[in-house]
Amino acid sequence: MAAPRDIAVAGCGPAGLAAALLLARDGHRVTVFERFNAPVPIGSGLMIQPTGLAVLRGLGLADALIARSARIERLFGTANGRVVLDVGYDTLAQPGLCGFGVHRATLFAILHEAVFAAGIPLETGRRIVGSELVSGDRRRLTFADGRSSERFDLIVDALGTRTPLAPPCGRALRYGALWASLRRVEGFAPDALEQRYRRASTMAGVLPIGRPPGAEQEQAAFFWSIRADRVAEWRAAGLEAWKEGVRELWPATTPLLDQIDDPAQLTFARYAHRTLPRPAETALIHIGDAWHSASPQLGQGANMALLDAHALAIGLRTADVGTGLAAAVAMRRRHVRLYQSLTALFTPVYQSDSRILPFVRDRLVGPLSGRWPADRIQAAMVSGLIGRPLAPLALTLA
Ligand SMILES: Cc1cc2nc3c(=O)[nH]c(=O)nc-3n(C[C@H](O)[C@H](O)[C@H](O)COP(=O)(O)OP(=O)(O)OC[C@H]3O[C@@H](n4cnc5c(N)ncnc54)[C@H](O)[C@@H]3O)c2cc1C
Repeated sequence: MAAPRDIAVAGCGPAGLAAALLLARDGHRVTVFERFNAPVPIGSGLMIQPTGLAVLRGLGLADALIARSARIERLFGTANGRVVLDVGYDTLAQPGLCGFGVHRATLFAILHEAVFAAGIPLETGRRIVGSELVSGDRRRLTFADGRSSERFDLIVDALGTRTPLAPPCGRALRYGALWASLRRVEGFAPDALEQRYRRASTMAGVLPIGRPPGAEQEQAAFFWSIRADRVAEWRAAGLEAWKEGVRELWPATTPLLDQIDDPAQLTFARYAHRTLPRPAETALIHIGDAWHSASPQLGQGANMALLDAHALAIGLRTADVGTGLAAAVAMRRRHVRLYQSLTALFTPVYQSDSRILPFVRDRLVGPLSGRWPADRIQAAMVSGLIGRPLAPLALTLA
């Protein structure tokens, strides 16, 4: 094991909290910095895949996640009554795998409780605006109030897709989605992510997400795809006009829509595709969305963030900081590139103004979705396992 280092983790999303835990367990002196005093949910639910669960298992947190989330066995979508997406985890070569639908606050709570229990200092209310190299190979953070942190051997940038610690890159996507966490109702499979589409410009989805902190009942995340430049128009038109459109697409959503009486219950999340060309610099590494972010079509972001954190911890175990960062990036780069490309390829099929892509999806690709070998390829893609990301990280699926 290499010498313990002084490490600042910037950001307490999944990447930052997992990195803090893993690095502290390896004996490093870790401090976490976060702008908020409490977590702010952007979107509502997400899916933890077998890849992310493998990292959580390594942290001893998989059982907590499983207990507080919803087991997802299948992804299912129709367009105009045709099945265009039918992915079952049971087609994967390894039996017993599945996804877990979880509220973001649940994932945060599980990781945060572990960070707290480990006694890792967490400085909240610290808005980071940059970092600077001091004395050649040490770095400090600079904050919006003009102050600076102490010097660290390494800063882990886990500040998400709009990180101020890296140069801007990539592009914001035209589409995002409105998200709400609602009481789960009858009429939807308790173990499936279900979606309805009209062309690629209209999409609604329902994902069971278990019982988030403070909730008395099981919840489901409801999402509605919308172009960013139409959000103001949506707001101006009023909830009733919107609900009518949703009900027309998917009548079963009525009891979910009945729970929405204020536009503030819906959070708009806009997506961006970006991949930093240089994820590691002197005494600085970018992980999670700070390195790579994409639309959630393939539902990989939080899982990739957890894998990045794990790779970082392994990299720092055997080497000096610079070599350790290079090793961490090498362990992840191929998988990151692969999924960034796959997500960029698939996003317009489900969220775009194209008429040709959804036509091909509905008439050619859709009918193959539930059949061999497309079923296995899709299941491997959704579970995050294409490119064998666990092998270099010495993680296993069970
Ligand atoms: C609507 C939506 C649905 C999604 N669905 C899925 C899914 O199903 N499966 C999946 O795996 N992923 C999904 N994702 C992606 C996933 O949420 C992200 O990939 C994941 O949260 C990235 O984690 P992170 O820790 O890198 O960044 P973040 O979660 O963005 O965390 C960044 C942290 O840094 C803090 N921070 C930011 N800027 C500053 C600053 N200047 N100073 C101090 N602190 C700061 C933030 O407050 C936050 O706590 C979805 C994303 C969205 C938006």
